[in-house]
This record gives sequence, C-alpha cells and structure tokens, in this order.
Amino acid sequence: MAIERTFSMIKPDATKRNLTGAVTAKLEEAGLRVIASKRVWMSKREAEGFYAVHAARPFFGELVETMTSGPTIVQVLEGENAILKNREVMGATNPADAAEGTIRKEFALSIGENSVHGSDAPETAAQEITYWFSSTEIVG
Ligand code: ADP
Ligand code: MG
Repeated sequence: MAIERTFSMIKPDATKRNLTGAVTAKLEEAGLRVIASKRVWMSKREAEGFYAVHAARPFFGELVETMTSGPTIVQVLEGENAILKNREVMGATNPADAAEGTIRKEFALSIGENSVHGSDAPETAAQEITYWFSSTEIVG
C-alpha cells in the first residue's frame, strides 16, 4: 500500500453545528493525518469552480448555495490508501445509505447537507489540493 494524499472538506452544515473536532476525530481514528487545514468562507465563484464537474446537475444551484452558507474547513489528509480510506470513513453520499460508524451516518442531515467532501481518485485529489492550497501551506 502506498502513502497517499487526499483533499477533504468539513462542509458548512457541520461547522455551523460545531462538529469540526468531531469530524476530524473520525478522520484521525481512521489513520488519516491532517497535514494542512484552514477555515474558509467560500465565495459563489470559488464554489462554482470547485464543483464545476457538477454544473449540469439539477442540484448544482442548491450545492453552491449550501457551500457558501457558512465556513468550510479545507484539509489535506495523508496516510496509507488515503483516498479510499477517506471515502470509506465518509460513508455514502446519501446518509440514508451510509454504513454505521461513518461520518455521514453519524452527522449528515441530508444528501445535500452531508457534512464532508472527499476526493474520489488520485487525479481529482491532486487537482482539488491545488485548488485550495499552495505548496507552502502543506506542512506535514
Ligand atoms: P460525493 O460528495 O459523495 O462525492 P457527488 O460527487 O456525487 O458525491 O456529489 C457532490 C455533492 O453534491 C454531494 O456531496 C452532495 O452535497 C451534493 N449532491 C449530490 N447529489 C445530490 C442530490 N441528489 N441532491 C442534492 N445534493 C446532492
Ligand atoms: Mg464527489
């Protein structure tokens, strides 16, 4: 297994409910290390750019609205198989389908307000890390 990096977000629905620490604890318990982290309040332009791949989806407007409704914690996570491991600890997109013990099962409110984001592949992880962080902000 390889040491990988992935990109994670604690979304506004979670930061508003003061769950930054609880979500981060789940990531750390899964063996992921937070090697960069900052709190941002996304602009509409930043949210639209980040989620451009979903621009044609019917939920795009709602997605941009929720992502700009409060602060988000953007993070770089590192660990063995970090991309897949993070997706596992996040749980399914719809919390109704998420497995016991996952972040979305425990904390998500709905498919739209589902508390966390995680990159789905090495290419998207690299792109998403670069979207939010400069190399000097990733400190290990
Ligand atoms: P994931 O975040 O699990 O990778 P997707 O990439 O498919 O899921 O979708 C990105 C985000 O868009 C989801 O996390 C969720 O916030 C939102 N979303 C996806 N599907 C829906 C939907 N049917 N209705 C409302 N919001 C949705
Ligand atoms: Mg996705």
